[in-house]
Amino acid sequence: MKVKVDDRGYYGNFGGAYIPEMLYPNVEELRQNYEAILAEPEFQKQFNRLLKDYVGRPTPLYLANRLSEKYGAKIYLKREDLCHTGAHKVNNTVGQILLAQRLGKKKIIAETGAGQHGVATATVCALMGVECIVYMGEVDMARQKPNVERMRILGTEVRPAKSGSRTLKDATNEAMRHWINNPTDTHYIIGSVVGPHPYPEMVARFQSVISKEMKSQLQSEIGRENPDYVIACVGGGSNAAGAFYHYYDQEEVQLVAVEAAGKGNNTGQSAATTTLGRPGVLHGSKTILMQTDDGQVVEPYSISAGLDYPGIGPVHAHLFETGRARFLSATDDEAMEAGIALSKLEGIIPAIESAHAFAALDQLEFKTEDVVVINLSGRGDKDLDTYIQWGKY
Ligand SMILES: *Cc1c(COP(=O)(O)O)cnc(C)c1O
Repeated sequence: MKVKVDDRGYYGNFGGAYIPEMLYPNVEELRQNYEAILAEPEFQKQFNRLLKDYVGRPTPLYLANRLSEKYGAKIYLKREDLCHTGAHKVNNTVGQILLAQRLGKKKIIAETGAGQHGVATATVCALMGVECIVYMGEVDMARQKPNVERMRILGTEVRPAKSGSRTLKDATNEAMRHWINNPTDTHYIIGSVVGPHPYPEMVARFQSVISKEMKSQLQSEIGRENPDYVIACVGGGSNAAGAFYHYYDQEEVQLVAVEAAGKGNNTGQSAATTTLGRPGVLHGSKTILMQTDDGQVVEPYSISAGLDYPGIGPVHAHLFETGRARFLSATDDEAMEAGIALSKLEGIIPAIESAHAFAALDQLEFKTEDVVVINLSGRGDKDLDTYIQWGKY
């Protein structure tokens, strides 16, 4: 099976650009230019250099011995938690800031929910000396105070979104409105493989460095590029898309995507989109989303802010529909237990998002010779309060 985006931004039945007329010039400018810019040798050189010297790539591929023993397979961790700022998100923001410069954009806007993408964006704007505004729901600003202050320390203006539920979707609306009103000098950095075409593919391309490195690391480690499994958690799906990207067409590699089941998939408090959702349009693309019978977006729930999203990127809707990837889900409790277990077995406290991927190990059956790569998308420092409140360690 080929997983490839077409000219109109579709992966099979999902994708496209469902945007208001007013946004068309901005998105069209990006669509017409991004591939040529990404292909420029000078762009590649600058991008790779920043990934190496600033982000700290390549991130290690670590053979987790005690975890391997527990599950009876050879389990490797792709250490995105060791990226500068503590997660994979910066791979994308580094790419997009370089792209924005080439498009002649002087200002950056972004939206953020928990603040992780906001911090990754504020970081690269400080690096490049570019003005940055991050929209954030007023409720989220109160909940995620340390990230608000991180962004401010980095020189970014955090603008509260005061309409609606004052959370991520309202921040997204305000960012869109800002972009419509400032099309010529501003670039909008989206943080996952979501939004109108070309964002999903563009973000996936920046994150695909993850699977590119995995291939060469596995080649020197075990003498073959392909593992038997790649496992990653899915919020919007950018770390998973990056970890799967160079394996899409390698059918012998089983791709496993893990969503957040919150308090349980039949409790009304979950974010497991493929289990609970159906096709519709969300944030500019056709995808699968959680919605009521008459098409209203359902408020998702997960203990982890990064997975608390009612949809998935269109490429994941396609991987789900075609069966190319297997979709599992893990509850809050399962993820917290898996996070504590990894801490005690390997001395690595994972982000609670990433802990969902580890919880999936309990749902899979391995042969002893199986090679499994888990994408450890981020570190748990930001989640310490949640671990402490959960308490059972
Ligand atoms: C934001 C985040 C995620 C979820 O986003 P994706 O786009 O699905 O990768 C997962 N892990 C960490 C550590 C994050 O910060």
